[in-house]
Amino acid sequence: MTQSISSMILARSLLSGCLLATAVAGCSNQQSDDGAMAPASVIAALEAAARGEAHPDDLHPDTVKSGKAMTPMQAAFDVQHYALTLKVLPESRSIQGSVAVRFDALESLDTVQLDLDPRLAIEGVTMGETSLNVRREEGSFMVSLPDRLAEGDSATIIVAYGGKPHVALAPPWFGGFVWSEVNGTPWFATAVQGDGCDLWWPCKDNFADKPDQGIDLAISAPKGVKVASVGVLRSVDEGDDGFDTWHWSSRHPYSGYAVAINGGPFELVEDEYEGINGSRYPIQFWALEENADKARALINSDVIPDLEFFERILGPYPWGDEKAGFVETPHLGMEHQTINGYGEQYRRGRYGYDWLLHHELAHEWFGNVMTHARPEDAWLHEGYGAYMQAVYSEETVGAMGYFDHMYGAYTNNEHCLPVANPEVEDAGEAFDNRDIYTKGSWMLHSLRRHIGEEAFWAGTRRLIYDTAEPWDLSYPIQSRYRSTEDFIDIMSDEAGEDVSWLVQTYLREAGMPELVTSRDNGQLSLSWNVPGDRDFPMPIDVSIDGEITVVDMSSGPQSLSLPDNARVIVDPESKILRTLPIIGDCSEQTEQQILDNIERFTRMAKDYGWQRD
Ligand SMILES: [Zn+2]
Repeated sequence: MTQSISSMILARSLLSGCLLATAVAGCSNQQSDDGAMAPASVIAALEAAARGEAHPDDLHPDTVKSGKAMTPMQAAFDVQHYALTLKVLPESRSIQGSVAVRFDALESLDTVQLDLDPRLAIEGVTMGETSLNVRREEGSFMVSLPDRLAEGDSATIIVAYGGKPHVALAPPWFGGFVWSEVNGTPWFATAVQGDGCDLWWPCKDNFADKPDQGIDLAISAPKGVKVASVGVLRSVDEGDDGFDTWHWSSRHPYSGYAVAINGGPFELVEDEYEGINGSRYPIQFWALEENADKARALINSDVIPDLEFFERILGPYPWGDEKAGFVETPHLGMEHQTINGYGEQYRRGRYGYDWLLHHELAHEWFGNVMTHARPEDAWLHEGYGAYMQAVYSEETVGAMGYFDHMYGAYTNNEHCLPVANPEVEDAGEAFDNRDIYTKGSWMLHSLRRHIGEEAFWAGTRRLIYDTAEPWDLSYPIQSRYRSTEDFIDIMSDEAGEDVSWLVQTYLREAGMPELVTSRDNGQLSLSWNVPGDRDFPMPIDVSIDGEITVVDMSSGPQSLSLPDNARVIVDPESKILRTLPIIGDCSEQTEQQILDNIERFTRMAKDYGWQRD
């Protein structure tokens, strides 16, 4: 997801906005001159949401929680496959359909627990010809199976459901269904990262159980609306009821939030790319018809160079046996697997490339094929997702571009909560901490400078692919889960030294290390003041009259003799994340973020024409 925000003070709904935008990339959304005003009710809700106050978007507390620890009943089965059959009715803003869930019993069980927002009705659950009993409980529902399954048994249940799904307030941060239109033709999207798949379909709302065998979707939409979704388009059935049905299919595992459907007056703009592993795969861009030429230009200016960048540094695009997919969305964007939401409106960014497209594409590696093991590890998605933009600017613009990103990230740190916080129970809480982007990317920068290029990038590739040499991997490429501890183990192995002190200090503490310096009588004294009194033997570069001395801090405070009138610069290349007098404290930073979010949300409501009534 693009950077969000938060604050521990204001609780969950205070999410933020175009993160990277202000934070790392310099958000470039401009207000459209002729944009229609969003309804007053929408503006009021957006402002309340930005302040963390109650607002009409409030969801059932159970629905909000995505990726929380599984209940024993949920842990008893492993989803293998989902098949969604869904009719989208833009006129009434409703959906009607079913989901077939195929699962393996991991232990003997007679009840299956799935999640669904209570505002959607369950019309029946069947197994074969048998109708099953269903009991709804808050945001979950329990299905009683006709016979107890033994460990290892497989079964499929079909859940028929429908109703009016939750309308997103400020997508992608306050998600749900997004309804818009272009010249009278419906334009819709789904975006549910923070709150989960159960906002619009019955699922096990937990990224720790992806459907191992993939997902099929048969989405019916009014004629004139083309539907873009995950995986491969198998066929389009032309109905005689005014609706066409679009059959999409993917054989890969998906986090529930990474599954999306999008409909609109699209034109498919296609190209082909030869990957680093020798495979050729399609690039598909489902653009609004009126923007097809812009999409074609964007493929050449950004999609292909971005793929080349990621493949050369990281390894093969993970889903080259299906597609690299993008779809124009009535919201900023989201990392939907093989069908990234794109809503940056073809603007040339501050850095000379499309930061939104780059950021969401990065998530195919950091988030989709390599997925965080727990909500507290969400920085593995967003810290890397943000950092790769700085690295891209480093290549295309040089140090100026790189440090501009990093300065922006620094000034957006809130340092209210640790980046990797075991107290975090679900995805929404994790994303409420903006530092998963900003401080996460800064930790990566400091680590890269400390262990060097070769170790850092080899470790990064191992994190994703389990090998530092993924260049020849053929498809399918295996998905895997990773934790902060995995990251430490892999990077320490590549570095040839234990780097847990560095990673833990930056990620497990809310504050940053402070470098205490003093200059007196020709002596420069250096010492670390570290939150939590952690061990932090970070060596320090000191430039003395233009010559660099590396000061070993492993045995505690140090002092250096200086020539008379020496010109001294500590950490002249800004290698180290540390306290600097350029930002405020947690409450000041959070307050600024609220103001930024109000401005951002209300501007986007106009820009994208979000509708709720
Ligand atoms: Zn992101």
